[in-house]
Amino acid sequence: MIEVRGLCKRFGPVQAVRGVSFAAADGRITGLLGPNGAGKSTTLRMLYAVLRPDAGEALIDGVSAVHAPRQALRGLGVLSHAAGIYPNLTARENVLYFAALHGLSRAAARRRTDALLELLEMHDLAGRRAKGFSQGERLKTALARALVHEPRNVVLDEPTNGLDVMAVRALRALLRRLREAGHCVLFSSHVMQEVAALCDEVVVIGAGAVLASGTPEAIRARAGCAALEDAFVQLIGGPA
Ligand code: ADP
Ligand code: MG
Repeated sequence: MIEVRGLCKRFGPVQAVRGVSFAAADGRITGLLGPNGAGKSTTLRMLYAVLRPDAGEALIDGVSAVHAPRQALRGLGVLSHAAGIYPNLTARENVLYFAALHGLSRAAARRRTDALLELLEMHDLAGRRAKGFSQGERLKTALARALVHEPRNVVLDEPTNGLDVMAVRALRALLRRLREAGHCVLFSSHVMQEVAALCDEVVVIGAGAVLASGTPEAIRARAGCAALEDAFVQLIGGPA
């Protein structure tokens, strides 16, 4: 369970996030939907304690990411676009290395890494150095790494950026599997269809503020639109 309350962040003259609040429940996929520059990454970065908010609170399973980040991050797996993987390590070594950083024993690290390589169908990749991996292959490796400590909550910042159709489908299937296993899944996107295809709950964000939240159906109904895309455009104040 992820909760953010009244988060604010300013960069010089730019008020990037202005009082954002929402909750993302376990066993649900929640989409943070907004155009470029809306404040999605800034909000998520406060959630995984890369940025300190000017005001507000971010809780991972009730633990403050602002005041107890180390403890809070134990319950969180993060996939951000900055996620660099080590090119000279194999996919398997990349995941094992993260397991060690999280303090897993050697046996547990191996067990967990092998399970993830299996889950993500990475048999062909496991022993290859990450140098030269395609976008989709890098994404799988980064995902395995993000999940190695078995976090209950998973946050992904625009995970489908730059992926081909097959990789997007594989990612969707994986997020659904995480949901079925009871995880809290929160991801950001500027692509409406992406969110419509996957999300149980949507939080629409524009200019640093939450414009609407609820199920896709509720948002469509509230905006009086048949299509979520029309509702989205209307909410963010774009052309009709
Ligand atoms: P999104 O992820 O929704 O595209 P961001 O959270 O990256 O939006 O950015 C929100 C706003 O904050 C933008 O105007 C962006 O230029 C600004 N911003 C984000 N990070 C920084 C930073 N480190 N320094 C200055 N401005 C930033
Ligand atoms: Mg972003």
